[in-house]
Amino acid sequence: MNETDVIRNRDAVLEEIAAACERSGRDPKEVTLIAVSKTKPEEMIQKLYDGGTRDFGENYVQELDAKINDLPKDIRWHMIGHLQRNKVKYVVGRTAMIHSVDSLRLAEEISKESAKKNVTSRVLIEVNVAEEENKFGFKLDEVIPFLKEAASLPNIRFCGLMTSAPYTENPEENRKYFRALKKLEIDINRSGIDNIQMDVLSMGMTNDYRIAVEEGATCVRVGTAIFGARDYSKK
Ligand SMILES: *Cc1c(COP(=O)(O)O)cnc(C)c1O
Repeated sequence: MNETDVIRNRDAVLEEIAAACERSGRDPKEVTLIAVSKTKPEEMIQKLYDGGTRDFGENYVQELDAKINDLPKDIRWHMIGHLQRNKVKYVVGRTAMIHSVDSLRLAEEISKESAKKNVTSRVLIEVNVAEEENKFGFKLDEVIPFLKEAASLPNIRFCGLMTSAPYTENPEENRKYFRALKKLEIDINRSGIDNIQMDVLSMGMTNDYRIAVEEGATCVRVGTAIFGARDYSKK
């Protein structure tokens, strides 16, 4: 079997991002491609790193911890999976951004651990826009009330919003969810909560990142289109 050519795959994704920007009158520099490397070997990450990629996304703390230890120190790691409070200490101070803040208690723990380490953590609020049963995240109308409580927490900066849209055969169906997240960002920025001004929208995966970019994504999280399908049986 052929080895996955991660550089060629990544470049194809970057071209699609540029085309989506073109269609929607955006500057491709506004969009960061995060290569989602969960379950994938460090050699593949190293290869992509050697080809210039610096932003990688991981879901599982133990795997992230090992990869941070083994791989180049200038990689910007993005924690994109559900984060338990007792694992916050492995992530704070070692990642560029935590995309998956889904409760006040988790935000409090990140704040506390960040203060202890004397760092400021950049985080995103995970929103379950489609209100899927099996997904973490706030409902759309819970986010502003949450921010009103969390905005005063020290050592944590709420940079933006994140969502994972439903899996669908027709990604066009997810456009409404991406629009709703963009609208929420605008509402938050107009609401005048102290310390809160957001400019990061993390949305779009292999299936629907083109649509997400058209609707204003500033981070897309793409795994399969770069690294190939994941095999969980080997984990
Ligand atoms: C796995 C994962 C991705 C990447 O999904 P692909 O469909 O492989 O591109 C993006 N975001 C989150 C939160 C994930 O868990």
